[in-house]
Amino acid sequence: MRIDLHNHTTRCNHAKGSMESYIKRAIELGIDIYGFSEHAPMDFDSHYRLKFEEMNAYTSDVYKLKEKYKNNIQILLGYEVDYLKGYMDERVLKSDVDYLIGSVHFLGEWGFDNPEFNKEYKNRDIDQIWQTYFDNIESMAKTGIFDIVGHLDLIKIFNFMPTKDIRIIASNALKAIKQSNMVIELNSAGLRKPTKEIYPSPLLLEMAYELDIPITFSSDAHALGQVGFKYNEVIKLAKKIGYSKAVTFEQREQQLITF
Ligand SMILES: [Zn+2]
Ligand SMILES: [Zn+2]
Repeated sequence: MRIDLHNHTTRCNHAKGSMESYIKRAIELGIDIYGFSEHAPMDFDSHYRLKFEEMNAYTSDVYKLKEKYKNNIQILLGYEVDYLKGYMDERVLKSDVDYLIGSVHFLGEWGFDNPEFNKEYKNRDIDQIWQTYFDNIESMAKTGIFDIVGHLDLIKIFNFMPTKDIRIIASNALKAIKQSNMVIELNSAGLRKPTKEIYPSPLLLEMAYELDIPITFSSDAHALGQVGFKYNEVIKLAKKIGYSKAVTFEQREQQLITF
């Protein structure tokens, strides 16, 4: 079985291609379970995400495709939600979806994964940046609100690496993820970024495996050519670490499948 749960649509204003074209491509690629997880609305950085007023339209677009292609592929409905204090909204958190991905894209107001703002890495202590990032992941896990951790080590995106051992920096975050029963995604988008590495790194994935944290798969597609991106590489890494099962969701319930 092939799963891909983290995918965007044009409603976030930074992705290209129709939802239906993504589904057709996913079917061609032999993907069995395909989830849309649009950037959920919030009153911060609001241009690059769904609008609150569009939530119903987004949901009905997903449901229409789900019905139309039900004999070919299972389509799921989700959101990628920013873990950002003061901006998370009940309309999203309580929405009737298959899963919620929790992601950290902002440290305070700093959008650290945006190339426009990457000078900021030089203005701060790199170990502190990494620790703050993983402290955010830890608090996110402790809220118990989310199902999947989005791109666990996104902070490596531009290759500004810490001097400290990453395993120590990420240790409490991983324990919190385990405790909250969350799943981590193997996200191939890292292979398209300067880091040129899957999120998370083999080192962190090994830690997750030792803690018995389940995984799922994501291409984080923002364009048609990114649907199912580098799937074979991702599967190879998962198997190398020892995983043979992955998680899919229906109405917030986890189901284990063999990949
Ligand atoms: Zn995006
Ligand atoms: Zn993201």
